[in-house]
Amino acid sequence: METIIMRGKPVADAYRQGVAAKIAAAKQRGLLVTIAIIVVGDDPASHVYKDRLVKLIESLGGAAKVIRLPQDSTEEYVIGVIKKLNRNRYVTGILPMMPMPEHINSENVGAAVSPNKDVDCLNPQNVGNVFMGRSPWAACTPRACMATLEHYGIELEGKSVIVIGRSNVVGKPVAMLLLKKNATVTICHSRTRNLPELLQQADVIVAAVGKPCFVKPEMVKEGVVIVDVGINAVDGKLVGDVDPAVANKAAAFTPVPGGIGVVSNMMVMDCLTRNV
Ligand code: NAP
Repeated sequence: METIIMRGKPVADAYRQGVAAKIAAAKQRGLLVTIAIIVVGDDPASHVYKDRLVKLIESLGGAAKVIRLPQDSTEEYVIGVIKKLNRNRYVTGILPMMPMPEHINSENVGAAVSPNKDVDCLNPQNVGNVFMGRSPWAACTPRACMATLEHYGIELEGKSVIVIGRSNVVGKPVAMLLLKKNATVTICHSRTRNLPELLQQADVIVAAVGKPCFVKPEMVKEGVVIVDVGINAVDGKLVGDVDPAVANKAAAFTPVPGGIGVVSNMMVMDCLTRNV
């Protein structure tokens, strides 16, 4: 059996046309679809991510309004900026770059984004709707995992899926989306005692740990499907949370780089255009 390399580009490309068509139709009605990106401080990763999103929205025919705020901005000030953007009818969606500087409560910032303009599911109302199974508009990375699995025809119903990681941005929401697809989902974290035994049973593993090459070949069974969310910089290179050697045992896997990350960015644009 040949291993399927679940590359992100074909998945993102499958969304590209639909998103660009919505942006073009809006333009004809006189609306320039615009994402407001707020970057507080000088976190290099946030700036790289912001630059990628600006390039992407422009390639799709929309626009970006980048708001750079100093590192020492107060939480109140950042929330004030978001509230203005909520009222600005020329702004379609709002994305505050996370993490915020330590003195700012990221959850308060996310909660300030109007639910209608919330392109990365930061507002608790939107999070709640996802958890109740009433909305598919989860954060971009969990949606990227689901879009990738669907694109490559991975059946989830009744499958045993292990999610490693329980963050609010990846682990928990992806578990909810998998549950919605009738998978049997186990969420593991740093206090999980018997992770290797659990992983041995898994048909699908979603790794969102933030530790390079954490999942090793001896932990997984033959024919497993691997979704590697991890992006870790090691010696100037990007590596995932799954050891590349796991690919030899997998039926399908997402590469790093070139996997979930590519799809995540397109999911932001997909969400941006959901109401236009
Ligand atoms: P996070 O908030 O740091 O969460 C990591 C999770 O892994 C936590 O739930 C933690 O458990 C768990 N964990 C840590 N050590 C573990 C261990 N030894 N055994 C089992 N579980 C363990 O990270 P995140 O924001 O979810 O991101 C996860 C990874 O995805 C990172 O590499 C990040 O860079 C990447 N990421 C990628 C994208 C993308 O678009 N591809 C987007 C976002 C994030 P506890 O809760 O018990 O601490």
